[in-house]
Amino acid sequence: MSHHDTDGPTDLFVIGGGINGCGIARDAAGRGLSVTLAEMNDLASATSSSSTKLFHGGLRYLEYFEFRLVREALIERETLLRAMPHISWPMRFILPYHKDMRFESETPTSRLLGLFMPWMKGRRPAWLIRLGLFMYDHLGGRKILPGTRTLSLNDSKEGAPLQDRFDKAYEYSDCWVEDSRLVVLNARDAEARGARILTRTKVLSAVREGDLWRVETQNTENGEIQTHLARMLINAGGPWVGDIIQTKVRINSREGVRLVRGSHIVTRRLYDHDKCYFFQGTDGRIIFSIPYETDFTLIGTTDADHPDPSQKPVCTEEEQRYLIDFANQYFAKALSRDDIVWTYSGVRPLYDDGASSATAATRDYTLKVDAEGGAPVLNVFGGKITTYRRLAESALEQIDSHLNVGKGPWTAGVPLPGGDFPVDGVERMTADLQSQYGFLTDFWARRLVRAYGTDAAVMLGAAQTAQDLGRDFGATLTETEVVWLMTREYARTAEDGVWRRNKLGLRMSEAEIENLHDWMAENRRSSTAAA
Ligand SMILES: Cc1cc2nc3c(=O)[nH]c(=O)nc-3n(C[C@H](O)[C@H](O)[C@H](O)COP(=O)(O)OP(=O)(O)OC[C@H]3O[C@@H](n4cnc5c(N)ncnc54)[C@H](O)[C@@H]3O)c2cc1C
Repeated sequence: MSHHDTDGPTDLFVIGGGINGCGIARDAAGRGLSVTLAEMNDLASATSSSSTKLFHGGLRYLEYFEFRLVREALIERETLLRAMPHISWPMRFILPYHKDMRFESETPTSRLLGLFMPWMKGRRPAWLIRLGLFMYDHLGGRKILPGTRTLSLNDSKEGAPLQDRFDKAYEYSDCWVEDSRLVVLNARDAEARGARILTRTKVLSAVREGDLWRVETQNTENGEIQTHLARMLINAGGPWVGDIIQTKVRINSREGVRLVRGSHIVTRRLYDHDKCYFFQGTDGRIIFSIPYETDFTLIGTTDADHPDPSQKPVCTEEEQRYLIDFANQYFAKALSRDDIVWTYSGVRPLYDDGASSATAATRDYTLKVDAEGGAPVLNVFGGKITTYRRLAESALEQIDSHLNVGKGPWTAGVPLPGGDFPVDGVERMTADLQSQYGFLTDFWARRLVRAYGTDAAVMLGAAQTAQDLGRDFGATLTETEVVWLMTREYARTAEDGVWRRNKLGLRMSEAEIENLHDWMAENRRSSTAAA
C-alpha cells in the first residue's frame, strides 16, 4: 500500500459525490474556490440515483404546511429546466379524484379538518385538492409549465387505463429529471471550473489541525492512502452524514438524520399516453405511476424506516406487494408481481425533526456549521434533488462567512454541460443529429440528445457509419460512447454505465453487460498503465 501527500491546502474538501456534494463543488469552483471532492463509490451511487426523478414542488407537502420548501421548489423547477433541457422535461400529472381517499391522520391539515369538519372522518375533500392545486399554480413564478385543469375520465385517453369508478381528475405540471446524470454533469462542470473530483475514494478520517483539516482518504480500487489539507470541510454524505460526524470527524453534534427507505418498481409500459398518475391511497399516502424509458412504467414510492446506511437498500417483497396492491386500486387491468421487470431502492437522509412517521418527516434541508474546535465543518441534512442548486447557494453563504468567498451566486441561468439550447429544442436537435449522422435510428438519436444534449455531436465526431463508433455492446451502446463515459463521466464499471449514466441495463442481456464489464476492466487497466 502506498501513501501520498497532496500539495498545499485547498479551500474546501467535500465528502460525498451525490447531488448535494457535486452541486456545492460546482458552485464553489465557479466562485474561484479550490475544491477537492471525494466519493467512496461511483458518483450518485447512493440516494441520488434512486429518487422518483421529479423536479417538483411536492404537492403533498402543502398538507404539512411546508410552504417555504414548496415555494422554493416550485420556482426552482423552471430555473433548472432552462439550465438542462436535455436531461429534464415538463410532465403532466393526472390526479384521479375519489371521495374515499384519505389523509394521513398526522398532517396539520387533517388535524384542522378533523376539528372543523369531523364528519369527513379523514377524507380529503375535493375543494381542498383544488385549493392545493391553486396554490401550486400560483406560489412559484410559473412561465413555461402549463397550469392546472379539471378533466373528465370518461372516454378520454387519460381515463382508459383506469377503473370505471374514476370519472373525474385534476391535471397539473411538474418536471422529470435524469437524477444520476444531473450529478455527473454537475461534477463535470465543477471539474471544468477547476475542482478535483475523486471517485472510489473513501474518507477514512478528518482531523483538525489548527485552522486546517487533515483528511485521510483511501482509494477503494488499489488501497492507496492519501492525505489532503483543507480550510473547510463539507460533509455531504447523505445517509452517512451522521456516521461521518461520529466516526470520521468526531465532533459533538446534536443534529440527527432519519433514514427513510423508498422503493420503486418498473414494469413494461402500462398505457399509451405520456402523462403520469398521482394516486392517493386509503392510507393517506400517495404514489406515482410515470412513463419511463419509452417502453416502461415506473411506480413508487414507499416510506419505510431504514436501520443504518451500511445496509444496502433493496425493494423488499413486502414493498413490491404494497406498490402492486396500491396501483391495483386504480388500474383496470390488475398487475401482479410477475409484471415487475426491475426494482430499485434508496434511503432518504432526512433531518430528524422528531416526526413520528416516516411519511411526515420534513423534506426540507438544514445546514449546520461547527467551528468550535478550529477549522469549520458544514454538515448537510436532508434536501431534495429539486432544491440542490438552492441548497448549494445557502451552503456558499455559510462558507462565505468563514472563508470570505468574494464572488456571489452565479448558477441560476448557467447551463450544465450539453444544456446550452432552448427548452423546447429537443425535437429539432434530434432531427438535426439524424440528418448529420444518417445511421442513427429514432430511438438512438433521441437517447443521445436526451443524455448529452449539444455534446452528442461532439461525442459522435466525424463518424460516418455505425462501424466508425467501434464495438457495439448492444442496445445502441458503442465503444465511442463507453470511452466518453470512462474519460469524461467518471464511469469505471459496467454498472456505472448501464444503470447510472444511462438505463440501457433495462434493454441489455446479462451476457452483453458481462461483455461490457470485461471490456471496461481491460481498458481501465491499459489506460492506468499508459498513465
Ligand atoms: C425513494 C426516493 C425518492 C425521491 N424522490 C425525489 C424526487 O422525486 N424529487 C426530489 O427532488 N428528491 C427526491 N428524493 C430526495 C433526493 O433523492 C435526495 O435528497 C438526494 O439525492 C440526496 O443527495 P445527497 O447528495 O445528500 O446524498 P447521496 O446521493 O446519498 O450522496 C452521498 C454520497 O456520500 C458518499 N459517502 C458517504 N460516506 C462517505 C465517505 N466516508 N467517503 C466518501 N464518500 C462517502 C456516498 O457514497 C454517497 O454517494 C428522493 C429520495 C428517495 C430515497
